Amino acid sequence: RVKERGKAHYQFYRSDMNITLTNIVTMETNLRKAVQNEELTLYYQPQIDLKDMTIKSVEALLRWECPTLGFISPGEFIPLAEDTGLIIPIGNWVIETACKQISSWLKAFGNGIRIAVNISPKQFEQPNFVDIIKSAIINNDIPANLLEIEITEGAMHNSKEAIPVLRKLKELGVIISVDDFGTGYSSLSYIKQFPIDILKIDQSFVRDVLENVKDAAIITTIIHLGKNLGMDVIAEGVECQEQADILIAANCHKAQGFYYSRPLPASEVEKFLLSRTNVGNRNESADNGIN
Ligand code: C2E
Ligand code: MG
Ligand code: MG
Ligand code: MG
Repeated sequence: RVKERGKAHYQFYRSDMNITLTNIVTMETNLRKAVQNEELTLYYQPQIDLKDMTIKSVEALLRWECPTLGFISPGEFIPLAEDTGLIIPIGNWVIETACKQISSWLKAFGNGIRIAVNISPKQFEQPNFVDIIKSAIINNDIPANLLEIEITEGAMHNSKEAIPVLRKLKELGVIISVDDFGTGYSSLSYIKQFPIDILKIDQSFVRDVLENVKDAAIITTIIHLGKNLGMDVIAEGVECQEQADILIAANCHKAQGFYYSRPLPASEVEKFLLSRTNVGNRNESADNGIN
């Protein structure tokens, strides 16, 4: 059953891991305890505004430090969490933790840093999803537009159910982005019908952009599409200046990737925000990068 669900699951079968059904069961048992045992943390990856090289937002990325199995990456446990339904309590923890962090940064930095949170289709399809988001915003007393939710094209299939949910989130003021854009089955009619603020160009297009003219053409086209539809566009997986240069030349709004910063613990993000005068060797004399 596990194996059928697609590419993410193949990681359980990495030859060096020799993972058996017993291991999967062990992992499920461990994952079940992860939230209450406080073994989960959020890392945050800065997103760079390419116009002025400031950081106005970060993406929250889940990390699991399991005492028996060691560090496990989200690519390995998110699919298991989705299969077992554990994605619901885990996802709720992520939303709550991100909103707490927004509140804390708002107090520390005044203008606030927006946090983008990844949402699984299973979470998004819960009947009370909007209420969960709304409570987290109200309980933490934060402006809704400092919370961004990243959905994938997979969450958009059932447009009859998805559109009203997204409309309610927009009414709250939450920002909505489409993650891994271009890799799913999103038709342009989804993009037209859904109240989307941001398109995130999938990193697979960015990876080979210097060698592959098709990737370059796709990236440019997505940026134009976003511009023409009034959406911001962010490129993920940027690893070098040459890739950034192409994005800047094409007027991409934002970029995110190891070139600028790896995902960092909250305390490291704070240091990064306060000392960021030479990210990418630019903006040498500018402000502290927070606005
Ligand atoms: P994603 O949302 O597309 O996140 C981007 C992934 O690319 C992250 O991997 C990030 O660490 C990685 N990355 C960032 N910059 C670069 C780069 O320059 N080069 C390369 N090669 N990779 C880069 P990560 O943290 O392992 O997360 C993997 C996926 O797991 C995420 O893909 C997302 O789909 C899922 N995920 C992570 N956190 C959560 C969460 O809290 N909830 C849910 N439902 N899914 C999550
Ligand atoms: Mg994401
Ligand atoms: Mg993703
Ligand atoms: Mg992505």
